[in-house]
Parts: sequence; structure tokens; C-alpha cells
Amino acid sequence: MADTATIEKAVRHVLPPLPYATTALDPVVSANTIGFHHGKHHKGYVDTLNKLVAGTQFADLSLEKLIGATVDKADDVAIFNNAAQAWNHSFYWRSLRPKGGGKPPAALQQRIEASFGTLDACRKELATAATTQFGSGWAWLVLDAGELKVVKTADAETPLTRGMKPLLTIDVWEHAYYLDYQNGRADYVNAVLDKLINWGFAAENLA
Ligand code: MN
Repeated sequence: MADTATIEKAVRHVLPPLPYATTALDPVVSANTIGFHHGKHHKGYVDTLNKLVAGTQFADLSLEKLIGATVDKADDVAIFNNAAQAWNHSFYWRSLRPKGGGKPPAALQQRIEASFGTLDACRKELATAATTQFGSGWAWLVLDAGELKVVKTADAETPLTRGMKPLLTIDVWEHAYYLDYQNGRADYVNAVLDKLINWGFAAENLA
């Protein structure tokens, strides 16, 4: 039987509640998709992570520290994948909001125009990154050495390990859109950018 300390370690990482109701992003992202995505996929990464780190040298590390400690380490790839996916998903939910899209707050808009020329150019780069990521992964708006940039990452990879500060992200794993859009990833990406993207969250991360 596990002692109390082991149990505490085993439940260290928690699935954060969604910042809105499961129906709040409908019809762009349906409650059905969010139910599986948050309640099964995201929860699965958190639960698996807790099992993988219980009783190991990693048991007491925060998600961010775990990601940094396991990146590019062949023996720890399962821990990295689940830790990074747990972090990426928490960040993704906050990158969306009901009645999102539109214009960023003024300070962010100025930074976008300084780095991309126009908001539309930034939006196009995000859409291109999200639609051209081959296979599973993520598109990101990041702060990199003082410049705003768009990057894409494969599978569980995250800009956190490249010295970049994530500002917002779009999940382009098929589980993020297949129930609603089937193979129409571009339709999902464009709808998210126009109707759900949370520029206010990006502005908070920039501050
Ligand atoms: Mn996902």
C-alpha cells in the first residue's frame, strides 16, 4: 500500500478546469470536441504524467521544470511528452475565448505591427504555420529576443525549450478538430483565428 508521501506525489499535477463552459466555443469548436479534448486527451496526459513521475527524481518538479529537465533526453521522452502536452493544453484553452478574434489590445497591436507590418500579416503567418505543420503539433505566437514571431512545433514540442516566451497557441492535432471539421484543418484554423483567438491573453503574456 502506498504511503501518504507517495500519494501526494502521485496527485501533484492536476487537470485545470476549462476557463469557460464546454458549450462556450460552439459552434466553432463543439462541446463534443471539447468534452473529449479536455476530459479525455488533456486529462490523459495529466494522469499519465502523474503515474510516470511517482516515486522518481522528477516527482516534486513543477510542469515547467519537468519539461526543461527531460527535453531531448531519450530515456525520459514519455515524461517529456506528457508534461509538455499537459502544459501546452492548459495554454491552448486560455488562448481561446467565446467571442474572440477581432483586434488585439493597443499595446499588442503595436508590437504586432512592429514585427509583422500588419495584424493581417501576423494572422496569415499563424494560419500558414497551423495549416502546414505536417502531422500533429502546434502553431504559436511567441516573443523571441524582443521580437514577436510565429513558430510551429511537432507533437508535444513547445517553444518553452527554445528560450521563447509563448503568447498564444493553436492545437492542430487531429483530435482538436476532427469531430467538427474532419480533414478540414484550414477551416478549423481560420474559424479559430476569426472567432475564438484570445488576443487579450497574448497581451497579458507579453506584459
Ligand atoms: Mn490537443
